[in-house]
Amino acid sequence: MKSVIVNDSGARKQLEVGERPKPEAGEEDLLINVHMAAVNRTDIIIKDENTGYSSNPVPGVEVAGTVVEADSAHSFAVGDRVMGLVNGGGYAEYAVMPASRAMKIPEALSFTEGAAIPEVFLTAYQTLFWIGKLQQKETVLIHAGASGVGTAAIQLAKQLSNAKVIATAGTERKLKFCSELGADVTINYKEQPFDQAVSDATDHQGVDLILDFVGASYWDKNLASIKTDGRWVLIGIMGGSELEHVDLMALMTKRIQLTGTLLTPRSDAYKAELSKEFAARVLPYIEQGTIRPVIDSTFPIESVLDAHQHMEANRNIGKIILSMES
Ligand code: NAP
Repeated sequence: MKSVIVNDSGARKQLEVGERPKPEAGEEDLLINVHMAAVNRTDIIIKDENTGYSSNPVPGVEVAGTVVEADSAHSFAVGDRVMGLVNGGGYAEYAVMPASRAMKIPEALSFTEGAAIPEVFLTAYQTLFWIGKLQQKETVLIHAGASGVGTAAIQLAKQLSNAKVIATAGTERKLKFCSELGADVTINYKEQPFDQAVSDATDHQGVDLILDFVGASYWDKNLASIKTDGRWVLIGIMGGSELEHVDLMALMTKRIQLTGTLLTPRSDAYKAELSKEFAARVLPYIEQGTIRPVIDSTFPIESVLDAHQHMEANRNIGKIILSMES
């Protein structure tokens, strides 16, 4: 089958398209003919650093496609259109997905839209509701608002919790898009310190919850932006992972609950439960069109490097899709 392979023979790892044997599905798995996969920052991190997240030599953590092999014990049949997380191996013509976490693609959605859902929507759902415990009408600060996860989080926070959403982003085009998705307040973090804008927007109270994709470079401003008893979920470290000066007293004084999390290394059981709850609670909104996957662009699999560079240059709003149909 056609597949992306990480070539690590040179100074920097490269992505190449080549031929590999089709993967074999176990009893608990579905074998999927992948129509579309999607790019995630984790694919770039795994390519650049050996994080050991996945033993699969093929990158890619999410796919949308057609079931070609399924055990009769599962609720999926050959020919079903499914989307979901895979344990690596998504950038290929065939991928193996544990049946327990597969989600049927709603009829109105294309494979491209299906591939844009799993990783970012499950991450946003998990961090807003399972970890962040977002309550009705609370205020949430969503950084990188036009990112894949950010665009999902803005919509989920508005539709499911009627929250007040404050989103940050680095260009006016991205901020306008966040407003169109439902963000109540948008802040260009490159033009003003976001903590001052958050203070103004919250009557100096701060926010109940922060979804933080940035880490070190936002530490002090996040600390200033959070309410007493606030929750702070650390999901990414795009602004660095090491802090020089940390005033732990400030965390204690504000009684902040700070949680770090990574979805990819979580167990099969966790991903299955998360996918099941998400499908039951959120897919009806997606079917009605009140929540939508946001697609930035689609690249043929042969242009996987261009797709990664597009993400690394921060040019995308929403998801970058890789097509296997070329
Ligand atoms: P994405 O679509 O590639 O968007 C990322 C955006 O973040 C960029 O376009 C850029 O937008 C902004 N950004 C980049 N570097 C920044 C910096 N130093 N400071 C402030 N903003 C910066 O990203 P994604 O795929 O949605 O992922 C978003 C984050 O979530 C990543 O850090 C990813 O690793 C993380 N993630 C974590 C999990 C988990 O389980 N923990 C799961 C999925 C994703 P601007 O133009 O607005 O700056």
